Amino acid sequence: MSTPAHSNYCASRFQAKRRKSREVNIGTVAIGGNQPIRIQSMTTTNTQDVEATVAQALALAEAGCEIVRITAPNKAAATALGDIAQKLRAAKCQVPLVADIHFLPSAAMEAAKHVEKVRINPGNYADKKKFAVIEYSDAAYAEELERLHASFSPLVLRCKELGRAMRIGTNHGSLSDRIMNRYGDSPLGMVESALEFIRIAESHHYHDICLSMKASNPKVMIEAYRLAAARMDEEGMHYPLHLGVTEAGDGEDARVKSAIGIGTLLNDGLGDTIRVSLTEDPIYEIPVARDLADKAMALWAQQAEWPLSTDTKDRLNPFEYCRRHSRVVNLGPNCQIGGQIAPAVIVKTRHSLGALNTLIQEVCHTQSSLKDHRIEGLHVAIQHLDDLKAFTGLHAALHSVVQVFVLELADTMDLGALEVFEWPTDGLAGITLLQRIHQADAFYAASLLQFCRTHGFNCGIDCQADALRDEIGAQLARMGSAGLILTVGACAEGYHPIGSYRALADAAQAFVPDAPIWIRNTAANTLHAQDRFSDQLLESSILGGALLCDGIGDAISIETDIPLDTATTLAYTILQGARARISKTEFVACPSCGRTLFDLQSVTQTIRARTDHLKGVTIAIMGCIVNGPGEMADADFGYVGGAPGKINLYVGKTCVKYNVPAAEALDRLIDLIKAHGKWVEPM
Ligand code: SF4
Repeated sequence: MSTPAHSNYCASRFQAKRRKSREVNIGTVAIGGNQPIRIQSMTTTNTQDVEATVAQALALAEAGCEIVRITAPNKAAATALGDIAQKLRAAKCQVPLVADIHFLPSAAMEAAKHVEKVRINPGNYADKKKFAVIEYSDAAYAEELERLHASFSPLVLRCKELGRAMRIGTNHGSLSDRIMNRYGDSPLGMVESALEFIRIAESHHYHDICLSMKASNPKVMIEAYRLAAARMDEEGMHYPLHLGVTEAGDGEDARVKSAIGIGTLLNDGLGDTIRVSLTEDPIYEIPVARDLADKAMALWAQQAEWPLSTDTKDRLNPFEYCRRHSRVVNLGPNCQIGGQIAPAVIVKTRHSLGALNTLIQEVCHTQSSLKDHRIEGLHVAIQHLDDLKAFTGLHAALHSVVQVFVLELADTMDLGALEVFEWPTDGLAGITLLQRIHQADAFYAASLLQFCRTHGFNCGIDCQADALRDEIGAQLARMGSAGLILTVGACAEGYHPIGSYRALADAAQAFVPDAPIWIRNTAANTLHAQDRFSDQLLESSILGGALLCDGIGDAISIETDIPLDTATTLAYTILQGARARISKTEFVACPSCGRTLFDLQSVTQTIRARTDHLKGVTIAIMGCIVNGPGEMADADFGYVGGAPGKINLYVGKTCVKYNVPAAEALDRLIDLIKAHGKWVEPM
């Protein structure tokens, strides 16, 4: 199966143009077409505890959840959905309900009587999921598909008869043995798995379908949704997409991962309904999802009228991660960027050099208070000559505390001022001069680069793709890319911020193809961010995460008006969320649902408290084993509900301890981590 062409998955990689999808009704709420992006969540109560489930569904609806999913792990729970629906309607709540089905066609058939939509997982709906390696001949594969047709058709026909919608919800890591055998545990396998089910539905002229392609790794999830859109386009299908990063965990990490995955795709114009999965009370999912949806809809509305940009080619493969090639640049004594080196973290201080002591104190406090992270580059604004003079004091105070000083020169500063200045010579830190260069200033760009080289500095050129394609690119090409870093401080007209960087990478290809690119979360690049930190977190995660998942980005900075420690932590969290730089323990935790066999929220916190110093170790915490060990993705260790009060422990995808009493499971998990040489004592 060849990978589809770029253009088939979205209208533009530079502008946010909404994908055209079919409108599908889920009870009183429609998704797709021109409908707003709909917000979804899922209850975490035991489904058969009807009162508790109704109360949580009401609370979710009240908070703005537009579609509520409830698990139906067996037929009795599916039957309870009838009571739940009745009580909700009696309470004048019309929120559509979705039954979440794994494995059991009988539960799906029952649930379809009571709820507006049924979600099935093609990896385990009437299909083999024994993690067996079986060779399927073409004839055996076709036979399996016929069997699937016979097993799935009754549900399709029932949904068609009752006017129910259906989600074909594929999850990475829970693909059937048949699909794994042919396509592997890959985005392509996820997509083909869903398409097989859609073809069966279409054979019955049933089209009230939406698709999801969730994964806990935003990179995998992004690739899978793009591929789904492209493959549907090839087959003339236009079903809406339900977006989500599954098992994202909790807190800031989870919000960042969700923003990277969901936000990237919404910027591509993909996505009709979303769920932000958090290992928290589901009510907290709603404001995050609302913010992501509102941002995307504002962007779509703003850019809908823009003519399609046709002059820029995108050379990166959106279906398969590959880091853009760049040369290694020494930013400071122990800080390099480019090549295959993990991106560096630069933060911009809110203080001017006029407040030198405050600035120094903030940096020192930040460096000593941050546990896992450090400021590598400190970015300060140089507005005039006095700031340059103050920089001497800053350098003297901090050159042993930060690796790199980035001096952002105001437009009014020119080489004359730089040349007469007595630059510090005794420091340990590196210096990068950064300046915005306009289209007409090509000669100045070359002179600035030359000045930097003469002084042993690096040179950051902040320019838009159009300017680089013009005379600036030609000037820089003549000089070569040594010591040069490219960036865009303000989104170019006609592009969204992600598109501005994609266009810059494209323009660089023709002139300085190996110049590293620095992703800057400036106020101008995060146009829709409000003053709230939560909003800036989402905006920065979308811009940084989308580009890093594209393979673009050798350094990242947060330049919005937030304290240095917050900005530093956020930058590292974005790098970790995009799997570009691992600096702390990675937790993959399911959001919990009615199948959960222990208190996920408190257990996650307890596990985190004892293991969050294990840099580079991934721990999965899963409420049940329904989706199989595969859904723990690439976790090193797994803590999974096996039975009430009993935990199964995994190393990779292999269960090594069954039915460990819950009270001792964390100690046994730590024993396993130690036995595999991945434990270090907390400092
Ligand atoms: S893994 Fe978690 S969210 Fe998924 S079905 Fe099990 S308990 Fe529910």
